[in-house]
Amino acid sequence: MCTRGLTFGLMSIGAAGLSAAQNIDSRFDSFPTYAGEDLELAISQQGIKFSLWSPEADAVRVRIYPTDRNSDPLEIIDLTKGENGVWRAIASADHIGHFYTFQIAHRGKWLDETPGIWAKAVGTNGHRAAIVNLDDTDPIAWESDKGPKVESINDVVLYEMHHRDFSMHPSSGIVHKGKFLALTEQGTTTPSGDKTGIDHLKELGITHVHILPSYDYNSVDEANLQSNQYNWGYDPYNYNAPEGSYSTDPANPISRIREMKEMIQALHNAGIGVVMDVVYNHTANDDDSNFSLTAPGYYYRHRQDGSYSDASGCGNETASDRQQMRNFIINSVKYWASEYHIDGFRFDLMAIHDTETMTEVAKALKEINPSIFVYGEGWTAGDSPLPVERRALKENVAKMEGIAVFSDDIRDAIKGHYSNAADRGFATGKPGNEETVKIGIVASTAHPQVDYTKGNNSKFAYASSPSQIINYVSCHDDLTLTDKLAKSMPDASVEERLRAARLAQTIVFTSQGTPFMFAGEEVFRDKHGVHNSYKSPDSINAIDWTQKRTYADQFNYYKELIRLRKEHPAFRMRTAEEIAKNIVFDKVYEPNLISYSIKNNANGDEWKEIKLVFNGSDEAKTVKVGKGDWTIIAEDGKINADGMGNTRGGNLTVAPRSALILARVK
Ligand code: CA
Repeated sequence: MCTRGLTFGLMSIGAAGLSAAQNIDSRFDSFPTYAGEDLELAISQQGIKFSLWSPEADAVRVRIYPTDRNSDPLEIIDLTKGENGVWRAIASADHIGHFYTFQIAHRGKWLDETPGIWAKAVGTNGHRAAIVNLDDTDPIAWESDKGPKVESINDVVLYEMHHRDFSMHPSSGIVHKGKFLALTEQGTTTPSGDKTGIDHLKELGITHVHILPSYDYNSVDEANLQSNQYNWGYDPYNYNAPEGSYSTDPANPISRIREMKEMIQALHNAGIGVVMDVVYNHTANDDDSNFSLTAPGYYYRHRQDGSYSDASGCGNETASDRQQMRNFIINSVKYWASEYHIDGFRFDLMAIHDTETMTEVAKALKEINPSIFVYGEGWTAGDSPLPVERRALKENVAKMEGIAVFSDDIRDAIKGHYSNAADRGFATGKPGNEETVKIGIVASTAHPQVDYTKGNNSKFAYASSPSQIINYVSCHDDLTLTDKLAKSMPDASVEERLRAARLAQTIVFTSQGTPFMFAGEEVFRDKHGVHNSYKSPDSINAIDWTQKRTYADQFNYYKELIRLRKEHPAFRMRTAEEIAKNIVFDKVYEPNLISYSIKNNANGDEWKEIKLVFNGSDEAKTVKVGKGDWTIIAEDGKINADGMGNTRGGNLTVAPRSALILARVK
């Protein structure tokens, strides 16, 4: 989840811990802090107020420029040290439309210029911040823009996408390929007439898009966009301004802001929410990052020898346990939620942050909009000086109200280990994963019939509520599901792999918790076997939308599966107690076979009982189902939420690599 795309799905790194090394950074604890939300730039009637938090600076100045690059300053203003470690100055309002940088003197030396850490508008490549009145960035009717109301995160269906993946392929029919504006285009289709873009999302039925990093990141040269560079964007540069390469004009600071807002507005008008992927755990640079150039050392954790600690695997890690860093994270997400109407946040390598910060993040966001939700990767990519018990690990999620974590348990159990391409899982015929799949079905909550000691990854029921769990089988990291199936089932036909993918997603979408899918898997999208495509070209990453026709049955299956989940609250129970009471596993102990019921009109469902049987083996299995008036919802790789025939129960055959779903109303 960084430029190196490392993923550590297992708890071993997080929980192995380190020997409580004394943090040499303890001197920072005595620094004064400032929680205000007006740092760096505030425009008012009196003029332009500059301020910079830098308790250790000897001197601070701001340079005001006429353009975003290649120009000399119009004015250089010295800031004066005030309360709470904040330096301040006022400039004339005539500078609106101009650009600025800060520069501090530290231990007798002037450091490099920086746009600061609170630049909300920037020019090309984000090197200079812009003096912009944010009201001038609002699209028409922005004041009435609103995201979908969310009662529980478990009602959400997440769709993870990258701007370029989604629209770059010629078959998308989209004009603004690879841009924020791609998601504002209505009525786009493939050459053969299948819906693409935002219309495709509506047709599929997902509730929220989770967009890969869209803040201003470092790797793509915004001055050279014609070269079609690609990056996931896990290399943060300016946390509070949008990425320029996704705008039509990176040199114009208003364009990236307005176009991102237009994208959000278009999605909201389609009833779709927007989740932002945020990466506060590390920065692209270290000594010359904006954090280091404003308050050297303060925002990072260090090792005993003074080097950067590296729990991110990307060269450094930030220090959320330090007050001003915590303030930064909280104020930053609050800013995106209020200025951009963002509906949810996905925290990269969340366990680098502390549980207290994450709890405060969730609380602050709920105050802005109760529909906002927060989830993250409950692991780190390396060791950290932060004690294990304070890390926002998935094993600590019960301590964090309002936070959810990805279940690597269900992910690896269904398809096989993420880092071993050839490894198979429950849905691809490898025995021994049944109990871990059950852990996923009950959203990692305590259940009398689930033996956590047999879990592959976690050995205890770490979630206290299904609202704390995100279920998935694949994401941008590692092999796509299509590629994983190709590498782990090399002798299988395409039809057999399509069946395995349908079974895998059926388990995810009928499990308790919140389902998450990777964009394009509904059209059997692959990445040519590239597992870490963070900077691969569009030829690897772009979704070929002609596959929507080639794999029309697959698309229709996914669409119907999503409809089934959305129409039936039984798949979205609210509490661990309900799950323990209403989910009953049948006494089936064959490899790659799970049979269970959701009973008692769970969570107000019209269906009294739902029977789900998953057969991950390559042979047909027989299961005994109680007598009753059952409607067949899914069978032999087909699904229809309205039903497709009836059965009286008894001994039923479940086809290889498929799900059998039955429902009865009495
Ligand atoms: Ca950038």
